[in-house]
Amino acid sequence: MTSGTEQSKAWFARAKAAVPGGVNSPVRAFNSVGGTPRFMVKGQGPYLWDVDGNRYVDLVSSWGPMILGHAHPGVVEAARGAATSGLSFGTPTLGEVELAEEIITRVAPVERVRLVNSGTEATMSAIRLARGFTGRSKIIKFAGCYHGHVDALLAEAGSGVATLGLPTSPGVTGAQAADTLVLPYNDLDAVRKSFVDNPDSIAAVITEAAAGNMGAIAPDDGFNAGLRDLAHEHGALLIMDEVMTGFRVSRSGWYGLEGVAGDLYTFGKVMSGGLPAAAFGGRADVMAKLAPGGPVYQAGTLSGNPVAVAAGLATLRAADDAVYAALDTNAKRLGGLFGAALSEAGVAHSVQYAGNLVSVFFSETPVRDYPGAQAAETWRFPAFFHALLEAGVYPPPSAFEAWFVNAAMDDEAFAVIEAALPGAARAAAEAVQP
Ligand code: PLP
Repeated sequence: MTSGTEQSKAWFARAKAAVPGGVNSPVRAFNSVGGTPRFMVKGQGPYLWDVDGNRYVDLVSSWGPMILGHAHPGVVEAARGAATSGLSFGTPTLGEVELAEEIITRVAPVERVRLVNSGTEATMSAIRLARGFTGRSKIIKFAGCYHGHVDALLAEAGSGVATLGLPTSPGVTGAQAADTLVLPYNDLDAVRKSFVDNPDSIAAVITEAAAGNMGAIAPDDGFNAGLRDLAHEHGALLIMDEVMTGFRVSRSGWYGLEGVAGDLYTFGKVMSGGLPAAAFGGRADVMAKLAPGGPVYQAGTLSGNPVAVAAGLATLRAADDAVYAALDTNAKRLGGLFGAALSEAGVAHSVQYAGNLVSVFFSETPVRDYPGAQAAETWRFPAFFHALLEAGVYPPPSAFEAWFVNAAMDDEAFAVIEAALPGAARAAAEAVQP
């Protein structure tokens, strides 16, 4: 049981006077669940501590990166070691070559890698490159998929855009949105038709390798392979966004589970070790179009930052088979506990996995696209969320997000979750539709 949130409340009031909405990324706010965001001061292993001294089992893992748990000694030491040698040089460094090689070794279709600072930058750059390579302007994306806050990709996006119920964002011009064709996820016929309706003008299809930003929704069998075939038949590229799944759902990401090769890939989160680093990469002939070798411009003062690269490399090197086995086991154990508690409380639900990403939808029917996610009884989520939070579990503050386990979760952490879930399930059962 947590004890008090006075300090978080005071800091949130102070934050709101300095930072829009009091947060530096909308998904951190509690807009859709109500209440005060907790200000965290420490992370260790599977736990977070807030400024009031409450301890939580962390089921967000910094929205994905912390697969090893918090403050992993090897990662902290690598970052500390790099920092003592200088924070940034603005020159090539050894570590960035090693990190690029590590990514290439893990994900076979990736032949060249360019490092950037965020997943948003990675998808933005991959799209520019796809347009530059093909000489075409249109992009296909799927409703409910989130690829960062790139102007052209905000239409019907998942994550915070879904949480806040926004169709897109003011500030995105008609011209930027006009080149984005938004189609239903898991619907190959829609993609086929779109290629026919837009001859020779689609540069790329971008998809989350497995959807994780409208809750966890694995692609139907053959969906990703169908996207690849259709894209290639029509002279377009397939961009696999593995910012969320990359190096989390297996050592080679979703590609390691499914084996469908994209032309371009985007990565972030896990490969950063929790610092700002991300990447895009793919076929050598496509990546060769990037400046300075080619004409498609892309750059970054802090790209390949030595401290971020050191943390990312240390994370990937520590992520051995035992870590991936633990992630898979912990995801199944969490999903099993969800299912048992919600069944016991009589709440209609569907526990879904995309690899070791987990989600609970308050829906009897399995969810396979964005309308399905929206049709779930999301109004039950705030009660479920707050009961867990009160009992020392930190869930994602949105019904549209995946839950991220880490390999540091042990029996003690699961005991906290197990003790919290029956009450949370009852709270979900008793929730009243507004
Ligand atoms: N792509 C996917 C699939 C994501 O899940 C995210 C972030 O959650 C992004 C891109 C954007 O990454 P970032 O938040 O680092 O800009």
